[in-house]
Amino acid sequence: MVEELKAEAKRQGLWNLFFVDQHGLPDAGYGAGLTNLQYAPLAEITGRSPHLAPTALNCAAPDTGNMELLAQFGDEAQKKQWLEPLLTGEIRSAFAMTEPEVASSDATNIETRIRRDGDAYVIDGRKWYISGAMNPDCKVFIVMGKTDPDGTDLRRQQSMILVPRDTPGVEVRRAMKVYGYEDHYHGGHAEVLFDGVRVPAANLVGEEGGGFAIAQARLGPGRIHHCMRLIGMAERAVELMCRRAVSRTAFGKALAQQGVVQNWIADARVTIEQLRLLVLKTAWLMDTVGNRGAHTEIQAIKIATPRAVVDIIDKAVQAHGAGGCRRTSRWPSCGRRRGR
Ligand SMILES: Cc1cc2nc3c(=O)[nH]c(=O)nc-3n(C[C@H](O)[C@H](O)[C@H](O)COP(=O)(O)OP(=O)(O)OC[C@H]3O[C@@H](n4cnc5c(N)ncnc54)[C@H](O)[C@@H]3O)c2cc1C
Repeated sequence: MVEELKAEAKRQGLWNLFFVDQHGLPDAGYGAGLTNLQYAPLAEITGRSPHLAPTALNCAAPDTGNMELLAQFGDEAQKKQWLEPLLTGEIRSAFAMTEPEVASSDATNIETRIRRDGDAYVIDGRKWYISGAMNPDCKVFIVMGKTDPDGTDLRRQQSMILVPRDTPGVEVRRAMKVYGYEDHYHGGHAEVLFDGVRVPAANLVGEEGGGFAIAQARLGPGRIHHCMRLIGMAERAVELMCRRAVSRTAFGKALAQQGVVQNWIADARVTIEQLRLLVLKTAWLMDTVGNRGAHTEIQAIKIATPRAVVDIIDKAVQAHGAGGCRRTSRWPSCGRRRGR
């Protein structure tokens, strides 16, 4: 089903819509030539069906961030080998930074070792919660590790390297659960072991020591994409809540006539309008002054959007009573994969 939708999206020009360049000018021919501000309402729509629509339009994390990273920092050979099949949707990818042993919110702590050995690099480390790694279509990992663990500049110790999934020593160990569930939004998050993994030196992305800066550059657009989609999720939740409120009667009147429920809906409406404006402002700043210039607003929406949307969805769940707890989502890609 997803493959059919992908073909249709390509046919209609609804493909790689996320792809705008670092400064917001239309990209170098990779996407549909949109700005962040133009992409925002489209990403919002995909958020109404988050497990299906972003993938169908080739706008799903973590590939989006990885494609931007390769476009910005990859050399021509890396673009040909990995960016091109990602752009056409032939393969998927993963970004491997977080490690169970160290506080990975501070990437200077990363312990995975990337050691130069002749014309190759050898990688040793353990990563977890690596989104998309459970997906068999995920053919490449962008791995963050340290090439200079003793370097005096803590932010120049790290590098990024491309590791094909089928390289000896790469072991996708297990699916990580999220609150006890397997999350198939991105094809599943995995624990991945890199044990003496040897790749050509040409697989290094950018220069040795440039990994920290690359990671910083990757995060901004990814954060706003999540927020754009979350607004779509909130809109869908409010829509379902309204439908339920007029169709369900409790204690002699429709839920819609209960003051508490009216408050939930009104609050949700007000909050969504505020959030959307902040996200659009951030997108506009990214377009006009660049991701760095929009840094503060990106941080703000990253905090404000999930916090508010979780509350809206909680109210929608409550309005549905016990039925709100049912897990009705189906994961089209995972059903197919389980059978493999
Ligand atoms: C569903 C899911 C998908 C993910 N996908 C990926 C992926 O694809 N690739 C990948 O590499 N990682 C992924 N991650 C991991 C995620 O990026 C990390 O969990 C995150 O960076 C935090 O790192 P940590 O888990 O080591 O927490 P820690 O670094 O141990 O942080 C613990 C807590 O301390 C807080 N904290 C840290 N510093 C401060 C401070 N100065 N002041 C106050 N509080 C602070 C943190 O915010 C956090 O709440 C995913 C995680 C989840 C849950």
